[in-house]
Amino acid sequence: MAKFKPGVYKGKAYGNGYDSKPSTVIVQVTLSEDRIEDVKILEHGEIKGVGWGLKTSPVETLPGEIVKHQSLGVPPVIGAEKSSKAIIKAATRAISQSGAKMSALTAPLPRPAHPDEERSVDFLILGGGAGGLAAGVQARQAGADVLIVEAAGVTGGSAARSGGKLMAPGTKWQRAVGIYDSPDLLYKYMMEQGKGLVDPDKIRFFCDRAYENLLWLESCGWKCQDVEPIHESIVPWRVYNSEGGSYMSAGQGGHITYAMHSTYEKLGGEIVFECALKELIVEDGAVKGAVCEYAGGGTLTVHANNVLLATGGFAANREKLEALYPQMKGYFTDVPKTNVGKGIDEGIKAGAKEYVSPGVQVNYMSISSAFIGIKEEAGLIVDADGRRVVNEWSYQYVVGDALMRTKKNHGWYVTSGKDKYATVQAAFQAGKTSDPKDVYADSLEELAGKMGVDYAVLKATVDRYNELAAKGVDEDFGKPAEYLFPVDGPKYAAFYYTPCVTVTFGGLETDLVGRVLDAGGKIIPGLYATGETAPKGMYGTIYPGCGTSIGAAVLWGRVAAKMVTGQAVL
Ligand SMILES: Cc1cc2nc3c(=O)[nH]c(=O)nc-3n(C[C@H](O)[C@H](O)[C@H](O)COP(=O)(O)OP(=O)(O)OC[C@H]3O[C@@H](n4cnc5c(N)ncnc54)[C@H](O)[C@@H]3O)c2cc1C
Repeated sequence: MAKFKPGVYKGKAYGNGYDSKPSTVIVQVTLSEDRIEDVKILEHGEIKGVGWGLKTSPVETLPGEIVKHQSLGVPPVIGAEKSSKAIIKAATRAISQSGAKMSALTAPLPRPAHPDEERSVDFLILGGGAGGLAAGVQARQAGADVLIVEAAGVTGGSAARSGGKLMAPGTKWQRAVGIYDSPDLLYKYMMEQGKGLVDPDKIRFFCDRAYENLLWLESCGWKCQDVEPIHESIVPWRVYNSEGGSYMSAGQGGHITYAMHSTYEKLGGEIVFECALKELIVEDGAVKGAVCEYAGGGTLTVHANNVLLATGGFAANREKLEALYPQMKGYFTDVPKTNVGKGIDEGIKAGAKEYVSPGVQVNYMSISSAFIGIKEEAGLIVDADGRRVVNEWSYQYVVGDALMRTKKNHGWYVTSGKDKYATVQAAFQAGKTSDPKDVYADSLEELAGKMGVDYAVLKATVDRYNELAAKGVDEDFGKPAEYLFPVDGPKYAAFYYTPCVTVTFGGLETDLVGRVLDAGGKIIPGLYATGETAPKGMYGTIYPGCGTSIGAAVLWGRVAAKMVTGQAVL
């Protein structure tokens, strides 16, 4: 009996687009009586470097896998699950129009197992995100025998999903629009933001090299689109959008990682995918390689005299993050699931000293109206108890730091619609949002009740705020007068602020050139770390600006590669 009614069918599903918006994926499937003959993706808006663009991305691989296995049960690409699932769903919807018995086609297939293998390289890089790819390129440029082992099925890590913003002072892009800037000015700014918790030598090292680092990325194929402020209150403008990006957009980081990935490939670099660091090999106190495991089963043991931990931070490790920072309970994150801090944990087991940071990169935003909280709304923000805690016209991470210090897991944006911001207006006028925690009321008392805060506290906060607005002077927090909008009814709304964590600030301690240190401050031979595996010294409790994180990961990835290959560093 025929399996399918032969024909060409189309199906649609929603995948992972820019700014966390769904991308429309349209898949065309050609069926004969007995076979899936062809699967084509006709349309998609997936993120470059994650959903498409790489040899291993879902757009490139899944159509062929479905035909090869004659199955819709093919496993999603690790790290690109949303894109994978959309393609599989669209293909499923297409095939289901053919009268096929779907249960037989959708049974999940296992990931392929690999035979156990042992090999040796000069330089083993664990993790193929911002730091790992940079190290790989820099090492290949020196002709080193290098291998990247990546837990996901695509490279890029957090960086590929990021806003793709980079930061550097004194650049040609600033000069082109008449902005004066210098490494000294950036140094001064970062030291102030670090509030005594940063390492002046590391900050200096970063500021002096940040521009060269971007020129190096440009030589890999990255393109700067424009320079912008990360917040109107912070000058000079020194943050650069990757092509396609704009204010607080997300997903353009794929352009950065794609550029490094393709350069690494052109230089003959090798990447092993869907294979994760299990443990480091340590002999006589020196790191000599790592044991890694394939997601489908099978062990890869790599012997190497130089190992770089570039496995990112631990924002996907909810248990660890909430234990260290209880006020982050219920936080939202969109880092890859693989970023659980494995490199940090294994580094510690190998004798490294752990730095536990008092902060994380957190911004608080309304999930139902994602941009309330990360643009420049500057309306009244209160903590979970209804108290004002910050000059709201501040960079989102300054607001985040202030709310995190309240030790509560949320905050509120309180308004009566006088604010001039489109996102706030839209949510206020609509009278409802998709987040049941957002509340609307006809009086402040009713609002306080719905927020679960003491009315007397909220009333005192709002009265004082309205008094300052009437005066036109924010005596309490110094917010400019033009951002003081009264909260005086007749209607009120409070948008629930959920903490959103992207970058973690704690990890392994390293010296200026990325060598991992033990508890006594001594170098652990053979072990380097970069990026969120070793962010100590770069951050206090406030994230100083978009672009520092990818910039630092790339910089110290390259520095580690230069150390390993004997290139000049300082
Ligand atoms: C939504 C979002 C927006 C952001 N926007 C910006 C921005 O605009 N500018 C900026 O500078 N920063 C931004 N960041 C932060 C930035 O992307 C990261 O801090 C940066 O990518 C860190 O680099 P990394 O190399 O340490 O980690 P990653 O880039 O995350 O790479 C780590 C890699 O290691 C892999 N890995 C994990 N565990 C293992 C294991 N056991 N074995 C092998 N591989 C493993 C992961 O799969 C991943 O590919 C953003 C982050 C997010 C999530």
